[in-house]
Amino acid sequence: MFGLMMDTPLLISSIMRHAEKLYGDTEIVSITHDHPRHRYNYQDAFQRVRRLANVFKQLDITFGDVIGTLAWNDFRHFEIYYATACSGVVCHTVNPRLFAEQIRYIVNHAEDKWLFTDPLFVPLLEELQAQLPHIKGYVILSDEEHMPTSTLPNVHCYESLLQQQSEEFDWPEFDERTASALCYTSGTTGNPKGVVYNHRATLLHSYALVMPNALNLSSRDCLLSVVPMFHVNAWGTPYAAPMVGTKIVLPGPRMADGQTLTDLMNEEQVNVSAGVPTIWQALLNYLRESGRTLDTLKRVIVGGAACPLSIMETFEQHGVYVHAAWGMTEMSPLGSINTMDQDPCELPRSVYNELRLKAGRAVFGVDMKIVSDDDQELPWDGKAFGTLKVRGPWITNRYFKHDASALDDNGWFDTGDVATISADGYMQITDRAKDVIKSGGEWISSIDLENAATGHPKVAQAAVIGVPHPKWTERPLLIIVKKDTTLSKEEILAWLDGKVAKWWIPEDAVFVESLPITATGKISKKDLRDQFEDYPK
Ligand code: ADP
Repeated sequence: MFGLMMDTPLLISSIMRHAEKLYGDTEIVSITHDHPRHRYNYQDAFQRVRRLANVFKQLDITFGDVIGTLAWNDFRHFEIYYATACSGVVCHTVNPRLFAEQIRYIVNHAEDKWLFTDPLFVPLLEELQAQLPHIKGYVILSDEEHMPTSTLPNVHCYESLLQQQSEEFDWPEFDERTASALCYTSGTTGNPKGVVYNHRATLLHSYALVMPNALNLSSRDCLLSVVPMFHVNAWGTPYAAPMVGTKIVLPGPRMADGQTLTDLMNEEQVNVSAGVPTIWQALLNYLRESGRTLDTLKRVIVGGAACPLSIMETFEQHGVYVHAAWGMTEMSPLGSINTMDQDPCELPRSVYNELRLKAGRAVFGVDMKIVSDDDQELPWDGKAFGTLKVRGPWITNRYFKHDASALDDNGWFDTGDVATISADGYMQITDRAKDVIKSGGEWISSIDLENAATGHPKVAQAAVIGVPHPKWTERPLLIIVKKDTTLSKEEILAWLDGKVAKWWIPEDAVFVESLPITATGKISKKDLRDQFEDYPK
């Protein structure tokens, strides 16, 4: 027997309608190249989204088409998110930090019909445009006054297009499995792979994101997303925030600038923020150098890579609590978050630190398991580590234009991560499968070693890679960026003694000026392996 409930489809347009009606005067604040501090509210935003849907009609962008964006976190990118999805168009967010060749590849692979671009990327597109056969034209995210001169064919000004259109638009209703957005993984090996999100997954993921045991968002919050809207849809926050009326602050092209972030946070009364560790390092360095404080920020969600304890502790001095979170492009991205039930005051410091470094518990909707090499499920005892597999309604089942399923025979997605899970469900990533160091048949966790090393007061950043070894196959090599020039190799290696298993301690540590960063702001182990290919020569 079926239940007798409405089959209302889960569509992104419902978030928009809800926010406009209930939270119409909640603000969205942005920095763009033509506005030092643009400010409007949800009602203004969604009126303009209707105009934009009419612009799509004018440009012959119709249901099922894919359009690309090369844009920062700002109000226009937000409008494109909604105008595309709500009219059944797919928004392909292109990461402008990728190499030109990768951008050419993904724009062509996705068959983007139009590109909506920030003026900053016009020179890049001028270089590429002859190799983008599917593109019908370019819309520059600007007002008329700040339009750049360009040799691009069929160029339009975003604001002028909007001005000419009506504010009336009837949003269509369609199948909730309709594609809404497209994002390519960074493709550290091989070509980038496209992940196609749909309305149903996006809505369910948004419900999960706002829950108290996740981001805990409401109309009392003000969120600044440092995670880019071109990287897994800013972790889904542009959908989740309007659902519950959260004020949004968008730093535009200044997202890596400590001073701008501090100004925005303090002046707009931001209390929650989200981003990868490298960004936070930059903000915390700025605070140290300038002596400034964070007046209203209370919590920060750090994901995309393991968060070093040093970042958590420095934030703590500013009265900010860090939640480690784990996810991936293929998972929309949220998989787990560490919200900790335990009261820190009641735990010994070392136990507390050990706990808060974990990637947390799965959010409802994501099923997790760890398995051995022969796919046998491993116990949740906090010790056994194996391949992490997941299942759930916001996890991809097939990459864009791939024939083969992305799942194993039992319908699980292999994350490519290696993890442990404790009896009470706290998951800890020990490595990416391809970064694991295999020494004498045993595995060494590069993440644990990095964490121990960054705990040293003279270390700014640390990375550990495996280097070939005649006896042990591989041994860890510690690569350090110094905070204090007096740090010696002997000092840092001695520091690790007692903090990790004896046989994990690297034989050598090398010092570098900086660590290579990927297009999504993470330390690039692949580039480090290339850099130290000839080590120890
Ligand atoms: P890419 O790194 O290619 O841009 P994603 O952004 O989807 O792809 O990254 C997902 C990966 O990032 C995960 O599979 C995992 O290896 C790593 N990651 C994400 N969150 C964490 C975390 N909290 N701790 C350790 N690693 C993490």
